[in-house]
Amino acid sequence: MITIDGSEGEGGGQVVRNALALSLVTGQPFRITNIRGGREKPGLMRQHLTAVEAALTIGGAMCEGAAVGASELAFTPGRVTPGTYRFAVGTAGSTSLVLQTVLMPLLLADAPSHLVLEGGTHNMMAPPFEFIERAFLPIVNRMGPEVSARLTRHGFFPRGGGRIEVDITPSKLMPIDCIDRGALTSVLATALFAGLPFEIAEREIKTVRKLLLDWPADAFAVRQLPEEQGPGNALLLEAAFENVTEIVTGFGKLGVSAESLSKTAAQRMAGFLASDAFAGPYLADQMLLPFALAGGGSFTTVKPSQHARTAAEVIQQFTGQRWTFEEQAGGSHLVRLG
Ligand code: ATP
Repeated sequence: MITIDGSEGEGGGQVVRNALALSLVTGQPFRITNIRGGREKPGLMRQHLTAVEAALTIGGAMCEGAAVGASELAFTPGRVTPGTYRFAVGTAGSTSLVLQTVLMPLLLADAPSHLVLEGGTHNMMAPPFEFIERAFLPIVNRMGPEVSARLTRHGFFPRGGGRIEVDITPSKLMPIDCIDRGALTSVLATALFAGLPFEIAEREIKTVRKLLLDWPADAFAVRQLPEEQGPGNALLLEAAFENVTEIVTGFGKLGVSAESLSKTAAQRMAGFLASDAFAGPYLADQMLLPFALAGGGSFTTVKPSQHARTAAEVIQQFTGQRWTFEEQAGGSHLVRLG
């Protein structure tokens, strides 16, 4: 049985989700101890539990210890059954993180699936819906499967209530090389807000305009969502290149000014634009799993995050593959097998 120390490396929820996905795909049971041992409040939280429950449901799996607050879990996978599923995170927990858990097993299954995921769609510390739709899924689709996602309702912390739908047409994953991001084709800055003063979104756009000086005037937009989908606010900075799209997000939060959130997001985007890397740090975190399941391929990224390095370690435990991160002359890092 594979045993994972959940406090190692990043020591957060991603370790649990990657282990669940890898267990379902490889058919290997695992035990994880010290779940989220690197976090202030360790143990499984409601949103991680929804991911475990989703894995149990699609995978005909068995599990010991799945409870809020649990620090240990033993998971025995069964047979993955594609189909129509609805998973609701009881809180504003992120729908994209539930998707992260079940996507790979379902896209390697033998028939299509349709998912309805309810909860948060724009959560701090998680991929916002647009990131899944426009940054991550195009890469997965290039590897063979056809996955499309639609947002039918926004969900922000703490209220949740968002809804996304995902259609998955499976295929074997083919290794690809993602080294050259190609030329920049378009840029977009959108301040989303619901149930909050218009002025917040306006201040965000004003701040990023001052920092992203070479972005054209028509690249900046404010988007007001129906009042009942709020309160919530997110600033999305999007740069589309010929071969990849990067999305940097600033999540509105009480106690963080519109200016400071926008400045951080603009600086991160400027940093990515100045690099020659294919994938930004969050996209790199997400790419490791499909690349590992394809059995090869390579990509470049900015400085690899602790999430990415930890994902590589969990992958090694399930597959024996060793993914390496090698700094390149221009400062980006090449991620590849062996
Ligand atoms: P924990 O509380 O343990 O941190 P978690 O499960 O919410 O729990 P992480 O383990 O930190 O969180 O995983 C967060 C995931 O969300 C990672 O895959 C990370 O790459 C991704 N992520 C975080 N912020 C963003 C963002 N702004 N854009 C895209 N992806 C993001």
